[in-house]
Amino acid sequence: MVGSGLGLLALVTSCSNSAASPAAPSPSAPESPHAWSYDGAEGPERWGTLSSDFGSCSSGTAQSPIDFRGGSGLSPAPLALAYYASECEITDNGHTTELRALTAQGITVGGKQYAFTQMHFHAPSEHTVNGVRHEAEFHFVHQADDGGLAVVGILATAGAANAAWAPFTDGVPAAAGGQKVAAGVVDFPALFPASLDHFAYDGSLTTPPCSEGVRWLLFETPVELGAGQLATLRAAHSGNSRPVQPLNGRDVVVVDQ
Ligand SMILES: [Zn+2]
Repeated sequence: MVGSGLGLLALVTSCSNSAASPAAPSPSAPESPHAWSYDGAEGPERWGTLSSDFGSCSSGTAQSPIDFRGGSGLSPAPLALAYYASECEITDNGHTTELRALTAQGITVGGKQYAFTQMHFHAPSEHTVNGVRHEAEFHFVHQADDGGLAVVGILATAGAANAAWAPFTDGVPAAAGGQKVAAGVVDFPALFPASLDHFAYDGSLTTPPCSEGVRWLLFETPVELGAGQLATLRAAHSGNSRPVQPLNGRDVVVVDQ
């Protein structure tokens, strides 16, 4: 895909490959010329030392994820979804599995439009609520025309098998080898919880280079996935979750809509 007409999409292939790293990686590199991991010498506590590009991971003061403990009463910026059913593709970047839509999707937050670039997962969740981690967390990454990023997060708990999520979870194993896998039609609106009530705050990418200025919206209501679906996700990537970061006085808004 690198060098193709999908260059804009290639800039934001995941939380870890942002517009802050415009140099295109070689096709064989997962997503960054600098190796990083979720444990050991290249783990989260060391990310800021692994590359001069990753400085925000250690020196940033508005990092993600965070632990949610209620919110302040600032005026909300309503979230509107512009999501539709679409053919999709699944790829694995070595750190997570990504879903891309072949037709345009997006959101509007406080009147600003963001285009969907890709969705991926972390298991267990990265954000916590009152200190509690969920089984998994999905990140829908969006980019505005001015380059601004907005990530919509959905927490997942164990429950009944979720047919809406099956096109993704069924395709995850086949993508593990690095090849692009057709997911068929994904009914995007059915992926989201019934309530759009959410937490909102300003944070960062949760993977190197940990760039700040990311608008975060995390749904308060989790989605249920079957035990088999969660096991499938963990079999592909488990422990790919950055520890929670200091809030440092940032405002967290609870948006009821
Ligand atoms: Zn993520």
